[in-house]
Amino acid sequence: MTDVLVIGAGPAGVLAALRAADLGARTTLVASAEFGGMAANDGPVPVRTLAHAGRLMRDARQLGQYGVNVSEPVLDYPRLLARVREVTGDVRAHSSLREQIDSLGVTVHEQAGAARFVDPHTIETKGGLRLAADKIIICTGGINRRLPIPGFELTCTHSDAWSLTSVPPSMLVIGAAATGVQVASIFNALGSRVQLFEAGPRIIATEDEDISAAAATAFRASGMVVQESFGAIESFEKTPAGVRMNFTKDGRRSSTEAALVVVAIGWVADTAGLNFSAAGVELNQRKFVKVDEYLRTSAAHIFAAGDIIGKLMLVPQAVQGGFVAATNAVQGPSMTFSPDDEVSPSGSFTEPEYAQVGLTEAKARATHDIVTAVVHFDATTRTIIDGHKSGFCKLVVDRKTCRILGCHVIGERAVDIVEVAAIAIAAGMRVDELAHIPLSYPTYAGILVRAAVSAAHKLGLKVGWQAHQAA
Ligand SMILES: Cc1cc2nc3c(=O)[nH]c(=O)nc-3n(C[C@H](O)[C@H](O)[C@H](O)COP(=O)(O)OP(=O)(O)OC[C@H]3O[C@@H](n4cnc5c(N)ncnc54)[C@H](O)[C@@H]3O)c2cc1C
Repeated sequence: MTDVLVIGAGPAGVLAALRAADLGARTTLVASAEFGGMAANDGPVPVRTLAHAGRLMRDARQLGQYGVNVSEPVLDYPRLLARVREVTGDVRAHSSLREQIDSLGVTVHEQAGAARFVDPHTIETKGGLRLAADKIIICTGGINRRLPIPGFELTCTHSDAWSLTSVPPSMLVIGAAATGVQVASIFNALGSRVQLFEAGPRIIATEDEDISAAAATAFRASGMVVQESFGAIESFEKTPAGVRMNFTKDGRRSSTEAALVVVAIGWVADTAGLNFSAAGVELNQRKFVKVDEYLRTSAAHIFAAGDIIGKLMLVPQAVQGGFVAATNAVQGPSMTFSPDDEVSPSGSFTEPEYAQVGLTEAKARATHDIVTAVVHFDATTRTIIDGHKSGFCKLVVDRKTCRILGCHVIGERAVDIVEVAAIAIAAGMRVDELAHIPLSYPTYAGILVRAAVSAAHKLGLKVGWQAHQAA
């Protein structure tokens, strides 16, 4: 019997195994598929590679503006998929985590097939392994939510991008949260005629309202059809050229069709095959694994981390959760996990990019007396140089403490700009302190200082020469 058995080799599982072994536990890591999990093989890494191809095509079209004459870029999709495989292989090969796992003597079973509990301390995998452990950490991630409606089997998920032989001429994307907008934006850039359908009143509803509105405007300007509050889907049916979606709104029936339909309406825990009842592991109301602040499940010797617990479903939080779960599994409950209380920047590699950290303006208004400052990309030097003048940076600042509560950016390098704001928030900086940092010129992040100076003025705070510094 091993001391700690980790199920799942995504960011949560890998960190859990690493930490457990580092603390001296005899550790086994088992995964149904490849090392790296969804993050390395089906999520951020390959999706970002597709997005990069779209970005390169955009940049190629800009070359003429800078006196470099080339013809219209033409996409070779099979070649792009080969590049995606190259990139994911390269990332895997250079993962220092794999080296550390191996050097710490963790027993790794990759491609073992899905695991299921047979009793509280034992699992069996589809590949025929039977493993027992004193402590178990479940890190099996999530899957796309499915709808119980006729014809749903005709729809695809983002993962189907890897088996297409060409870019579909047209595409319906259902669901405009982070995954849906990335799929829509990427395939729009690659040449598909994309229609994006959102059931709620605005796309990317977890973002600041101004960011949602600006993203919708930019998507429409790039040729995408964006339909918010579109109604309820009744069915999907096959047509000679693809798939038709039938839907109703306010009692009126409509339909639309495309070569491919991608559904991205949420990410849920994939627990059906794990046979939790044999182990005493319970689910919460949202059907994710129920854990306490130590990431202990309802069975005291079984822990869980990553997407399977349904908190912030992002790689850094999965890594953090894996570390915490393993620490508590080996040393007893001593380290708590509360990602919601921490500074958690997030963003999406759409065209245009968007990102956020901290509170949206609406959430901040509900609990604080605030000021906001907005600087547009057409007012900063670097964005003008690079020809990326669309976008803005919004800072949300607490009037009483002068601390930054939130930062929201849409436009080129939004994700990187927000990282800088996240560090300022984590350091508890006042907005005038941020305004005093002489960031390099001309840079994208310089817009933050401009916004900080503007907010400081609104708060009546003194800002010296920096009030005039270029950005
Ligand atoms: C399209 C897309 C883009 C994304 N982009 C980003 C991004 O840019 N930045 C970011 O931070 N996050 C992004 N995410 C989210 C991120 O990928 C996840 O939060 C992260 O992968 C979660 O890690 P995890 O370890 O919990 O699970 P996963 O990475 O999903 O790994 C789960 C592991 O469990 C194994 N497994 C599953 N079931 C079983 C079973 N029954 N038995 C044995 N093993 C099993 C799998 O083989 C895998 O090894 C994206 C997600 C998607 C879908």
